[in-house]
Amino acid sequence: MKIAITGGAGFIGSNLARALTDHPKITQVRIVDNLSTGHKANIAALGIDFVEGDIQNADLLDQAFRGADAVVHLAALPSVPRSVRDPLASHQANATGTLQVLEAARRAGGLHVIAASSSSVYGANPRLPKHEDLVTAPMSPYAVTKLATEAYLGAYHHSFDLPVLPFRFFNVYGPGQRADHPYAAVIPKWISATLAGEPVTVYGDGTQTRDFTYVGTVCRVLVDALLRRIVEPRPVNLAFGTRISLLDLIPEIETATGLVVHQDHVPARAGDVPHSQADSGRLRALFPMVAPMALEEGISTTADWFRASVASAAPS
Ligand code: NAD
Repeated sequence: MKIAITGGAGFIGSNLARALTDHPKITQVRIVDNLSTGHKANIAALGIDFVEGDIQNADLLDQAFRGADAVVHLAALPSVPRSVRDPLASHQANATGTLQVLEAARRAGGLHVIAASSSSVYGANPRLPKHEDLVTAPMSPYAVTKLATEAYLGAYHHSFDLPVLPFRFFNVYGPGQRADHPYAAVIPKWISATLAGEPVTVYGDGTQTRDFTYVGTVCRVLVDALLRRIVEPRPVNLAFGTRISLLDLIPEIETATGLVVHQDHVPARAGDVPHSQADSGRLRALFPMVAPMALEEGISTTADWFRASVASAAPS
């Protein structure tokens, strides 16, 4: 089976590329990525096909999708604050980019398209847990682009019979997620700061909650969806209904690093949702064999990866 991954040089994409190259039933993995937030170093050791460029370039997508059986579409500018600063750039990469991917999948003969939407689409809807049938209420331009992503997949299924599967990722974390950019996510930022002896920045009072999913678990679901060719035009939450406040993450990080976490409280950020927790019923019905990695183990593995990265970057 031959798989194309858009955004494969990024955090989730490079973890998925590794999982696929290790799988006996996968004969080819090809990545298309413009390296806007991803890094070639993430995939250098894998020895797989790499097409460098933008998913808004139709010719480039035709080249990348040639001979493929399926596409995992992960390319996007993945940040709420980035989209608040530059909504047009997020729209072009995420919404227009998705449309280009779907058109290319159609031209390639009707490829299976699995794509990443986001829990941010639930936005201002306060109900918990987040069931896929809840009314969506995006609070940021990023969330709107993700709603467009999943809606386009559904529309291409109904209009053109394209086999699709839109996932709503929640907060994915794990090895390979970088902390060295202004839009970094909370777990890598806090582990990295703690290892460097710096305080962690807490936006608001820290009581906001998130449903964290380990990247290895996300990849197991994606691989299973590819191999069993799961088609579902309705969005599927990819999280397991665990919920923890940011303040409760702190003891987990202290245990994993063996260090004290110092907190620096600053005002809440525009566009951030207060609480998040998935209803995982639809996911569990489609993927009954996949069990999530426990947060404690996932954070410990992530802290080990950060420690090793710091050690390998240190001058000898
Ligand atoms: P990432 O930034 O590490 O990866 C995104 C990749 O897409 C990068 O390699 C980047 O260079 C590439 N890219 C961006 N725009 C592109 C374009 N126009 N053309 C080609 N390549 C482009 O982010 P990630 O955390 O791995 O996220 C992967 C996907 O999952 C994204 O669609 C994101 O919106 C979604 N998602 C992630 C999370 C999470 O917690 N990480 C949560 C919800 C949704």
